[in-house]
Amino acid sequence: MNSFNFDVITLFPKAFELINNLGVITRALDKNLIDVNLHDLREFGEGSYRQVDDKPYGGGAGMVLKPEPIYKAHDSIDKLSKNKTLLMTPQGRVLKQQDLLRWSSLDQLIIICGQYEGFDERVRYLADEEVSVGDYVLSGGEIPAVMIINGLTRLLPGTLGDPDSLRDESHNSSLLEYPHYTRPQVFNEMKVPDILVSGNHEEIKLWRKQKMLERTFDRRNDLISNEDFKKLPKSKRINEDANKVMKFRKVNEYDNYPDW
Ligand code: SAH
Repeated sequence: MNSFNFDVITLFPKAFELINNLGVITRALDKNLIDVNLHDLREFGEGSYRQVDDKPYGGGAGMVLKPEPIYKAHDSIDKLSKNKTLLMTPQGRVLKQQDLLRWSSLDQLIIICGQYEGFDERVRYLADEEVSVGDYVLSGGEIPAVMIINGLTRLLPGTLGDPDSLRDESHNSSLLEYPHYTRPQVFNEMKVPDILVSGNHEEIKLWRKQKMLERTFDRRNDLISNEDFKKLPKSKRINEDANKVMKFRKVNEYDNYPDW
């Protein structure tokens, strides 16, 4: 199997040393499931100072990445047949699990990381998609790029020890995952729910489904569209949950683990 290629254009290649210490991601590198090629923007800079940034036209604070070095770096990358170029920007569409899934069937992602005040507007023409990792501003696109490499790699076959662990995960089905417990059965007077030690697998499955719904209603009601909501099984319990959501939404609080 060919490895998935990440080609990253960055002024700070050292920021990616982190992926050598990220457990399953590091294993995926070792097993050649992924290839991470770092393209140092400085090498494409201009003049003896290898200049990559300049002052903004029209004035204002900070420096802006120049277009030519980014275009040159992008041109220098060998493109595989199924590739996409992503531009890291807080002005992009906010990253979702569905995006990672969608991109995981490609051969290659080219990721452009901004720095300083960002990049010249003409850099946008290189991008198939503009991606934000959330409604906040970081100092550079490197951490967002590491997030994408991390999130996508764990979806690739052969990366996780147990592929089943992907199935019920939060955001896969637009529901958050159910709560997990491990030994000991009682910890600081907090007890593992009896159902989980009952050995009744059918009941456990139902309990988990119920908890996924509760959690999502309580915490991320926005993830469930009206259509999804209508498709959910109509039980008394779920209707009660829906009422509870109204209350939680008003006070803007998460659930308080009333179980123990
Ligand atoms: N002045 C710019 C922000 C620059 S932040 C603006 O207001 O849009 C510098 C760089 O960090 C950006 O070019 C981008 O590559 C990266 N960055 C910062 N926050 C980000 C976010 N939430 N998602 C993705 N990239 C981000």
